[in-house]
Amino acid sequence: MGRCSCALLWIVVISLAFFFPPAESWGKEGHSAVCKIAQSRLNKAAADAVQKLLPDYAEGDLASVCSWADEVKYLAKYRWSSPLHFIDTPDLKCNYEYSRDCHNTQGEEGMCLAGAINNYTAQLATYGKSSDATYNLTEALLFLSHFVGDIHQPLHCGFSGDLGGNTIILHWYGQKSNLHHVWDTLLIETALKDFYDSDLALFTQGLQTNITDSWSNDVSTWEKSSTKGLACPNPYGMESVGLACNWAYKDAPADSVLKDDYFLSRLPVIEEQLAKGGVRLAATLNRIF
Ligand code: ZN
Ligand code: ZN
Repeated sequence: MGRCSCALLWIVVISLAFFFPPAESWGKEGHSAVCKIAQSRLNKAAADAVQKLLPDYAEGDLASVCSWADEVKYLAKYRWSSPLHFIDTPDLKCNYEYSRDCHNTQGEEGMCLAGAINNYTAQLATYGKSSDATYNLTEALLFLSHFVGDIHQPLHCGFSGDLGGNTIILHWYGQKSNLHHVWDTLLIETALKDFYDSDLALFTQGLQTNITDSWSNDVSTWEKSSTKGLACPNPYGMESVGLACNWAYKDAPADSVLKDDYFLSRLPVIEEQLAKGGVRLAATLNRIF
């Protein structure tokens, strides 16, 4: 191929990459809400450890670095981490099993979202012990805080055949998109625009009010680690794939147009998942430190 057409090809490739960015996890808004909620619920020891481990540029705010793991996964240095953002479950099974599903495409065990949560939890548990020079605990904190958010996005535990809804192309109101992106970003963005004056702080505050108010009876169940371990990602994954089947995939086939019916019935699901993510991230960090 001649130099000219090669350059042209690159322009096409780069423009396509710009218009169809690869799907990420919860958008920045979702991750920020999870980490804001979590940081407000830390006990003294955990709050101190988080302050010590946060990079200086975060200025003490965990939420500001909660999407770091998404930002670096396209860099050569961190490309190995991209399978850690999701769990692929078998098509239409609506269940998840660690031993069956937690691996990357090369079949390496533990290379999935649940494995990553266990791994970074174990690393952080070395904080303050003599062995802590072995790991980069700042990165471990940023990864863990991001991944606990991701595992609460139902389509991050979706079907392998449609890449967690990424290949289900449909319309969100008048906008062409895919089902995965609807759950990462568009549901939250629409809620912000319609009900919160595009103010993320107000939205997050609303979730926090519900945590102390309408969900207060559920919070201690959310916080508990059913496995007696410091982290318990497997039940979260089970819960997510169930929600993926009952809410995300339901009534959202390819080429459909999702509108008010879908938006208004799914928004409570997303809000509860974000709240759970925040409560459970805090509970995990409190157990670790
Ligand atoms: Zn995503
Ligand atoms: Zn992610």
